[in-house]
Amino acid sequence: MTDLKEIIQNAALSHNLENSQITAILKDDSINDFLFACADKVREKYVGNEIHLRGLIEFSNICKCSCKYCGIRKENTSVERYRLSENEIILLAQKAKQYGYKTIVLQSGEDSFYSTEKMISIIKKIKSMDFAITLSIGEKTYDEYKAYKDAGADRYLLRIETTDENLYKNMHPNMSFENRINCLKNLKKLGFETGTGCLVGLPGQSIESLANDILFFKELNADMIGLGPFIPAPDTPLKNETGGTLTLALKVMALTRLLLPDINIPATTAMETLAPDGRIIALKSGANVVMPNVTDENCKQKYTIYPGKAGLNNTPEEYKSCITSKIESIGRKISNGYGFRNKF
Ligand code: SAM
Repeated sequence: MTDLKEIIQNAALSHNLENSQITAILKDDSINDFLFACADKVREKYVGNEIHLRGLIEFSNICKCSCKYCGIRKENTSVERYRLSENEIILLAQKAKQYGYKTIVLQSGEDSFYSTEKMISIIKKIKSMDFAITLSIGEKTYDEYKAYKDAGADRYLLRIETTDENLYKNMHPNMSFENRINCLKNLKKLGFETGTGCLVGLPGQSIESLANDILFFKELNADMIGLGPFIPAPDTPLKNETGGTLTLALKVMALTRLLLPDINIPATTAMETLAPDGRIIALKSGANVVMPNVTDENCKQKYTIYPGKAGLNNTPEEYKSCITSKIESIGRKISNGYGFRNKF
């Protein structure tokens, strides 16, 4: 057995790695299958064979931010903007109920139209329908996060995107790395199941910094990690850059599973976008969550954070039946539970 395989095998038991070890694993593609198989075993041991489906509602593509990679950044005038009313959001949640989903993920651009009062009302209504609620609506104050939590929100996703501070500053004009970290700390403090993650393959991103990203997830003791390849989007400053690869994103994900064995890790849409079975490959390499999109056709097409987003041509009904049979075909089962983290 090579040194690297031994290091991976030990990490599958100790759940610890150093930056230099992670970097070496990320740089060597000869051990990929071994890494994916180890991550899959750790996944099975700690979170079992059940897959949690979370119904995703993309309720607004209006955003005040200028993230250089993002297709819905405020400067992009070629995007047709939309925002859903409370009633429209509730109707989508009712549909998600019919598909049997136990969690609603509410995601949007950073759209100040949705005041704290509006969000509280939406959260309370969805909560009364017996869902777990995940929010992914960006950076807010401690008091705003507290108000969402008090209203019944359970989880919050806020990717750090990159822990390389200079790269972060370059990618996110007018945003503060320190504030992003503070937001994550506040979410943890408030008792949210806290999700973070990174983009893989950003221009100028080093392998060492990806290793630091993984160590940051461990240090934060994140409850969920969502990561995916950077996919260049038209009408953004990064439109001519080379995107990230599925393989590298899968490797970052598999290493995350080794270090945080009991957390929830989605097989992300960006992974499916780069390969027809990207989600299934991810589910066999450490992931245990899928977030089917329940947003209406018309709006889904406009939530263009990157081009060619997987699932745009399926109705939510078609997607549910397709993902169910794919999941069963790899010997896994759809969970009936809410899918909270069971800490070991
Ligand atoms: N506004 C919220 C926030 O900032 O957390 C949620 C919406 S944001 C569009 C959701 C995620 O999309 C980001 O965390 C980012 O990682 C991802 N994303 C944006 N542009 C992308 C691109 N070009 N390729 C891959 N992922 C992208």
